[in-house]
Amino acid sequence: MLLRAENLALRYSNGALGIEDVSIEIDEGHLVALIGVNGAGKTTTCRALSGFLKTEDMKIVRGKVFFDGADVTGREPHQLTRIGISAVPERNKVFPNLSVREHFISAGMHRSRAERNQMLEFGLQLFPRIRERMKQSAGKLSGGEQQMVAIIRALVSHPRLLIVDEMTLGLHASLRGPLFEALKTIAAKGTACLIIDESTAHTLANAEYCYLLEGGRTTKRGRTADFANNDLLDPGYASA
Ligand code: ATP
Repeated sequence: MLLRAENLALRYSNGALGIEDVSIEIDEGHLVALIGVNGAGKTTTCRALSGFLKTEDMKIVRGKVFFDGADVTGREPHQLTRIGISAVPERNKVFPNLSVREHFISAGMHRSRAERNQMLEFGLQLFPRIRERMKQSAGKLSGGEQQMVAIIRALVSHPRLLIVDEMTLGLHASLRGPLFEALKTIAAKGTACLIIDESTAHTLANAEYCYLLEGGRTTKRGRTADFANNDLLDPGYASA
């Protein structure tokens, strides 16, 4: 198993228990989704797995995270990136004042130049329109393009696990298809992907495995097909 989170509980400094008991397994090359209503703990789980704890003033109070068999509980984002976990967070996906090119040349420094170039080329093939935007400031891009830049930047580190939180939130609905297709291509190439998206319909249509979070706990897991028509999901599911 590539990633195994066992009985994770995380608390924010204001005392809010972000998650209470989350257990997740992700295998190489699979596209896995976290689903659940607002406040269920999806983003908190992503933060725990990608190491963004200090920035959010939160602590792991229980549980462990194993990556490739090693205990990586509580490691910092830069340490996790080095061992193969890259994340695209819910907010602040790009640096507005940096050019698109600068996003890519400043990523994945622990990899060889050849590896970084190879992954950059792969990312640009997934999102060809970004090739035309290399000199532009990231802050001037559309929300969809910013998401694409953030995903390519994460890929340049050559991750074994890519975590994408709120992939299409605030984006035009026409971008959902291409972004999910891109993640499927990334997973097919061997990089496991963990995704959160507000469109449960697209998530269920594209992910292979799902974990349902309710009140900070993983309450159901399995193949995505088993989740169809689950009435615990958000009300937008049928129409999304
Ligand atoms: P959403 O879709 O609304 O982002 P979510 O499923 O991602 O929901 P989380 O954002 O992880 O859920 O929230 C889980 C719990 O943690 C909630 O009770 C929330 O209020 C709390 N929480 C989340 N972020 C913070 C924070 N920065 N500080 C304090 N509490 C937080």
